[in-house]
Amino acid sequence: MSNVEKDPTELRCAASDHGRPLPQVDVLSARDVPLGGPRAMTVRRTLPQRARTLIGAWCFIDHYGPDDIADTGGMDVAPHPHTGLQTVSWLFNGEIEHRDSLGSHAFVRPGELNLMTGGHGISHSEVSTTRTTILHGVQLWVALPEEHRHTARDFQHYVPSPARTDGADIRVFLGSLAGDTSPVRTFTPLLGAELILEPRSTTTLTIDPEFEHGLLVDHGDVRMAGTLLHAAELGYLGTGNDTLTLTNETDTAARTVLLGGTPFEEQIVMWWNFIGRSHEDIVEAREAWQNASDRFGKVDGYDGDRLPAPALPNATIAPRKNPTRH
Ligand code: MN
Repeated sequence: MSNVEKDPTELRCAASDHGRPLPQVDVLSARDVPLGGPRAMTVRRTLPQRARTLIGAWCFIDHYGPDDIADTGGMDVAPHPHTGLQTVSWLFNGEIEHRDSLGSHAFVRPGELNLMTGGHGISHSEVSTTRTTILHGVQLWVALPEEHRHTARDFQHYVPSPARTDGADIRVFLGSLAGDTSPVRTFTPLLGAELILEPRSTTTLTIDPEFEHGLLVDHGDVRMAGTLLHAAELGYLGTGNDTLTLTNETDTAARTVLLGGTPFEEQIVMWWNFIGRSHEDIVEAREAWQNASDRFGKVDGYDGDRLPAPALPNATIAPRKNPTRH
């Protein structure tokens, strides 16, 4: 008997120390995306991409820096709208001034969660402050489930205390990990945590087997369940695992962000800063923004014009769902 596939896929059969096969980890690479503006700070985007749209309800991962803002000009994102999603700003270094149409005026600082709920509609601006020299962090989006995607706009701030586990310092900003639980409410089961792994250390974490997980490596070489990840890569681990072993293969501390959640089964339509369920949802949101409707409100205190929406594509925007795993 022979495999008659024309293009057989390689099967990995690595075994752990205990003889159990290691779970498969997919390695997702980042692509560089300029944020726009005169000097165009660039971000590394690992979600969404062709191979994967979502990890739990996490649907967008932008990773940036460390950038000397004398070179990049820093961040200056004029007022723009969001619908159907939450934004999570998490910094490693620097400071960002946030203003939104709820009237929030906040400073995003390292180790502090700033969670903005777009719900039916919100608008905000994000500008790195003059106190900032090095800007370094992530911007993450969470898709809202159907029953909550038109919820009221909201803004929350939370500072997790660092938790210690064998070989790692952990800051849990959403969900539960290593005995620590964030009090911030989510609309679907989620995990979000920063993990700093000691040099040459191995950490085994208890995880929820109903969750899928993504590990973004900020710096260091980190083995995730046996698969080596380099800086800026995102490792994906599917559901059905109750532990996750991470090994820092470098001689200095490694920084990672661990995201997780139960698989988000709804098809979504993502375009610009909007998440809907259909092309019509997107057309409606874009029109509301272009017409300065109350749906997205007004941002006070930003020095400059709001961002105009780009032109819609000629074709109908197709819904996205994760590709079926083989
Ligand atoms: Mn935004």
